[in-house]
Amino acid sequence: MGVWQKELITGLLLFLVVSIVGGITGFFMPLALVLTLGILIRQLYQINRFERWIRTGGRAKYPKTSGVWEEIYYHVYRIKKNEKKRKKKLGKMVDQFRQSTEALPDAAVVLGPNDEIEWANKAAREVFGLQFSDKGQRIPNLIRFPEFIRYLKSGNYNEAVILPSPVNNRITLAVRIITYGAGLRLLLAQDVTQLKKMERMRKDFVANVSHELRTPLTVLKGYLETLQDMDDGLSPLLTTSFQQMHGQTERMQHLVDDLLLLTRLETQQKKTECVNIPALLSQICKEADTLHGKASASADALYQHSMDNLPARIELILECDVNIMGEEQELRSAFTNLLGNALKYSPDDSVVKIRWYRSGDSIILDVEDHGEGIAAADIPRVTERFYRSEVKRVKKVGGTGLGLAIVKHVLMRHDAKLNITSELGKGSCFGCYFPVKRVCN
Ligand code: ADP
Repeated sequence: MGVWQKELITGLLLFLVVSIVGGITGFFMPLALVLTLGILIRQLYQINRFERWIRTGGRAKYPKTSGVWEEIYYHVYRIKKNEKKRKKKLGKMVDQFRQSTEALPDAAVVLGPNDEIEWANKAAREVFGLQFSDKGQRIPNLIRFPEFIRYLKSGNYNEAVILPSPVNNRITLAVRIITYGAGLRLLLAQDVTQLKKMERMRKDFVANVSHELRTPLTVLKGYLETLQDMDDGLSPLLTTSFQQMHGQTERMQHLVDDLLLLTRLETQQKKTECVNIPALLSQICKEADTLHGKASASADALYQHSMDNLPARIELILECDVNIMGEEQELRSAFTNLLGNALKYSPDDSVVKIRWYRSGDSIILDVEDHGEGIAAADIPRVTERFYRSEVKRVKKVGGTGLGLAIVKHVLMRHDAKLNITSELGKGSCFGCYFPVKRVCN
């Protein structure tokens, strides 16, 4: 039988007794009143006891009682006990999490909605020189590098920002912010000193080797040309050898030039001026004869010139006369590479279309050809240094594999993006997207 039924039956029995005794003695009403008062006083007493117990946190063992009240005490006690267990477990988990993040080799700082420090691990205290007392302080007041403040304010945390450590400028940090929860952000900083050192060494090595190769190559080429001039053509073997040696030295010279250009793009400060892009494009297109001659060993002067002196294969469409803030020589290299590739990788009787136009928030240069196209798997890789599709290697198509890497770098330095669409056997379109903020006229 449940406690409620028991309580009800006891009440009914008491009422029955009161009714019988009241009927015999004729005092039913006073007796019923006494019974009701008794029940009320008992309940008030129980409520009072319960309130006192719960006020002290309900932690102590509950007072001895019976019936419904014992049930109530028991359930509340059990809820409290479970809650305590859960709290303990949670506390343990938080402790473990704290210990593991403390032991992390990377610096981690939890930032509040107003850039204030909520928590920092040991590595963060070391590399940023933070103290326990800095909790609640705004991080821009402690890490004052302008590039960091710009990054923090930007709200665009897709990429990391590279900073020296505020306590030791020989340590280089890659700082990244990750947003989570409601307005909370986690700042992570990784020590990339070694990585940056290796990168610098690689750049220096490539720059030095390319530079040192330049002089011997020029000397070699000079002597080869002299020998070719002296060749009387009596020995076909000698003549072909000279031709091949000349071709290979030219190739090496292109490689060295491209490597030096890439190094310059990576290391040199940007110079900007307002570049007349329509004029630049017209000039590049007019020079395309020599460009193709350089790019393809098999084709020489295959173009018939059209009315405005453009090679017949090239269709130049200037839909707008917008100029761009940038570095003319760099842009010339990038556009020349794109046009050179389009001519090189498409049949000699096909048209290459160059279009300069505005669309939405971008000013676009499209270089479109109807050539062999690029396999979908190769598209993401063609801008890597020295990447050349297998077919090109096998067919021995001339090239260094550095052209598109140069294009990508130049565009990056101009806040522009390269978009490649291509289909095997149909052709390719290389689109350079410049943001409108670069427009100057
Ligand atoms: P290179 O032309 O000297 O090999 P690039 O960096 O200019 O080096 O190009 C890398 C590779 O991308 C080329 O080897 C070629 O496979 C592919 N490629 C570039 N432009 C085109 C194009 N217009 N059509 C087809 N393939 C292309």
